[in-house]
Amino acid sequence: MEINKLVRANICALKPYSSARDEFSGKEGIFLDANESPFGDLNRYPDPYQSELKSIVAKQKKLKSEQIFVGNGSDEVIDLLFRIFCEPGKDKALTFSPTYGMYEVSAAINDVEIKQIPLNGNFGLDLKEINSELVEGNYKLTFICSPNNPTGNAFPIEEIEEVIIKSNGIVVVDEAYIDFSETNSAIELIDKYSNLIVTQTMSKAMGLAAARVGFAFANEEIIELLNRVKPPYNVSELNQSAAVYALKNEELIKENIQLILSEREKLKVALNELTSVVKIYPSDTNFLLVEFKDADKTYSKLVEQKIIVRNRHKLLENCIRITVGTAQENELLIEAIKQNEKSTIY
Ligand code: PMP
Repeated sequence: MEINKLVRANICALKPYSSARDEFSGKEGIFLDANESPFGDLNRYPDPYQSELKSIVAKQKKLKSEQIFVGNGSDEVIDLLFRIFCEPGKDKALTFSPTYGMYEVSAAINDVEIKQIPLNGNFGLDLKEINSELVEGNYKLTFICSPNNPTGNAFPIEEIEEVIIKSNGIVVVDEAYIDFSETNSAIELIDKYSNLIVTQTMSKAMGLAAARVGFAFANEEIIELLNRVKPPYNVSELNQSAAVYALKNEELIKENIQLILSEREKLKVALNELTSVVKIYPSDTNFLLVEFKDADKTYSKLVEQKIIVRNRHKLLENCIRITVGTAQENELLIEAIKQNEKSTIY
């Protein structure tokens, strides 16, 4: 697929900003070129292309650094993609609902119409409907969130591949929760499909939500477009260092993921025994989507007890999304719901 034909004309014609660090990238010397203060520890602008971070990620993901973009969280990547590919008031994007809310919000910010095809009864991709929509509509961007937020399930990689093949636009596979899943990452398809972008984040399994570090993995042409449009120093020095530090401690991250996964299973068992719980959906993530008899009631009681979960009742009837916490936090949650059940008639 010719990617440049999908790009907005103004972005194709864009002469990107050239920062001081673009024009001289050496580390040695007396730097009087960027109007920085000569005083302090954080006085210098960060590496605009995050080369140390990218080299570690490239090794771990078996990619070239040129196939990696680092964003201020993956939310920044989502917004940049709308700005690169979608002409405001003209182009359209496709999502599979219910899914992560920022696709719709970013679309609205960029004045892009969004079509939502509902997931089927098992929260699977409705491939028949999707295929016919992709043939008829001209979707510049299609977002597949896998594992999906808030339903928790991952889609089979073969189904994701089918959507990529059928689409005549860009397909973004958002893998924010992939480290909690046993399904393969779509990264393995990047060399095969030029219209594929995979996003991941350090906010979930890596425990760095505060640092705001997200990734896009794609072919070099798409990565170059993202680099053109991003603000020059989009990832701070502190955030880059935090990300490098975390990635160098791979063993600790793996241990934490295992802990979260075993806690998720324990939490599922404990929730299953509660009378106010109707159903717990399968999860490939660090959260459980749980149907309660009365989600609003359960939610407000928990808030009173200072336990904050995410009420998804408006999206999915009587459903609450519960993030897996520490063993102690999960136990306190179960105890609190048990207490509430004693004083509530269902
Ligand atoms: N994608 C999904 C599916 C998410 O759930 C989230 C965070 N809630 C994000 C992206 C955004 O992640 P980040 O912190 O990297 O911006």
